[in-house]
Amino acid sequence: MRAPIVALLLFHIFVAAGNPQPTTEAEFALARKRMVEEQLAASGRGIKNPRVLEAMATVPRHEFIPEAVRKYAYLDEPLPIGYGQTISQPFIVAYMTEQLEPKATDRVLEIGTGSGYQAAVLSRLVAEVFTIEIIGPLAKRAEADLKRLGYTNVEVLAGDGYKGWPARAPFDAIIVTCAPEQIPQPLVDQLRDGGRMIVPVGSPGAQELYLLKKAGAKIEQQAVLRVWFVPMIKGAE
Ligand code: SAH
Repeated sequence: MRAPIVALLLFHIFVAAGNPQPTTEAEFALARKRMVEEQLAASGRGIKNPRVLEAMATVPRHEFIPEAVRKYAYLDEPLPIGYGQTISQPFIVAYMTEQLEPKATDRVLEIGTGSGYQAAVLSRLVAEVFTIEIIGPLAKRAEADLKRLGYTNVEVLAGDGYKGWPARAPFDAIIVTCAPEQIPQPLVDQLRDGGRMIVPVGSPGAQELYLLKKAGAKIEQQAVLRVWFVPMIKGAE
């Protein structure tokens, strides 16, 4: 195991020592309710969109993560999901989702399926979710978990998300959950006029989350938050 993951696990064990560990479905549900109140809706965090809060209160995060870390599912932290990848902190998932201003009729593209959790949250808020994962076994596992849990409006593709998904474009919104060095032009091209994209950009330790809005030929973009995502892996040419 890589050192940062070991450090992260030790940190969780430390944090968890002060928290009761959920194991039953009722305890997971209670932990999820507390997560929404304390980590998302609380004044210091400020997630306000009621539909986003509802989705975060409903989707079982613990079902998307490996057994070994399941009891930490509702802590205020990212968690390892295998293959050197992580599921984002719940606040980041809620924040990025809120920034997209998801509408019930939207078709949304996600780059970086990972566990499938972010895709599941989005699937509660929009018409269709298309999600791309470059690590084959992760794509497979996420697809199986989404199916098992009844998220039928999500389509998973194993491949390089840098290129987007031309066959399904254009998208009303695009969410990127791994960090490229620059905003991928194919994704900008596949965004519908009037659409929004949220994407972390930069090297580890120096990333900013950018919100882009496409208005005709014009792209408005602003940095909204400092973040730390896994880097976008470069696919084969
Ligand atoms: N959204 C995920 C967390 C993503 S972690 C969740 O809810 O669990 C980032 C993911 O992006 C990793 O699984 C990583 O394998 C994937 N990734 C990295 N580079 C990629 C690329 N070029 N195309 C598609 N996925 C990529």
